[in-house]
This record gives sequence, C-alpha cells and structure tokens, in this order.
Amino acid sequence: MTDPDDTEASLIAERARTSELIESMSARLASVIEATADTASDDEHDPEGTTLAVERGQLVAQLERSRVRLEEIDAALERLGRGAYGRCETCGEEIGAERLEVLPAARQCVRCAAKNSSRRW
Ligand SMILES: [Zn+2]
Repeated sequence: MTDPDDTEASLIAERARTSELIESMSARLASVIEATADTASDDEHDPEGTTLAVERGQLVAQLERSRVRLEEIDAALERLGRGAYGRCETCGEEIGAERLEVLPAARQCVRCAAKNSSRRW
C-alpha cells in the first residue's frame, strides 16, 4: 500500500518542480519573444530568427503541458483530500501503486488510459 502522507509529499514536491519549470520557461519565452522582436526587421531567412521561432514554438508547447500537469497535480491533491485518490475515475478500480509511483497524478488505471489514449493520463 502507498502511504498517503508519502503520496501527498511527492505530489507537493512535483507541484513545486512544475511551478519552477513554468516560471523558468516563461522567463525564457519572454526573452525569446524579445529577441524575435529584435530580429524582426531582418527577413525570415535569418538563421537566428528561425532558431528562435522553433524554440518559441517548443517553449509554448512545453508551457502548455506543464500547466496541464499542474492542474492534474492539484486535482490529485484534491482527490487525496477527499479520499478518492488512487481510484480510476472511469472504472473505479484501484490504479495500482506502480503506476501511481510513475504518475502520481494519474486519474485512470492503465487499462482505461490505454483504451482512451486521447486522454492525457
Ligand atoms: Zn479504469
């Protein structure tokens, strides 16, 4: 059995890491946008401008994923608070300690997650 206190601690640690990541990526994105603006007078054949555009796209995607992750972690903490943590939201079965260790914020068991792969977790 997973100790609920350990689970909460690892979710909180994960939340802190994700918040930090979002902060540093936001800062990086802001500087990339600034740099892009500086090179905007050059045409798009400027190799540095292209690199920045690629990095900008990646940062936006990473930020989006991290924000989603943060929401999932908050939802998991909320489930933990009302004793619903560790149960699949779809079939009600236990998610399983191994899966929860890898994905502490998982809301579906492996079977349901595989069936419904359009869902994030
Ligand atoms: Zn399930």
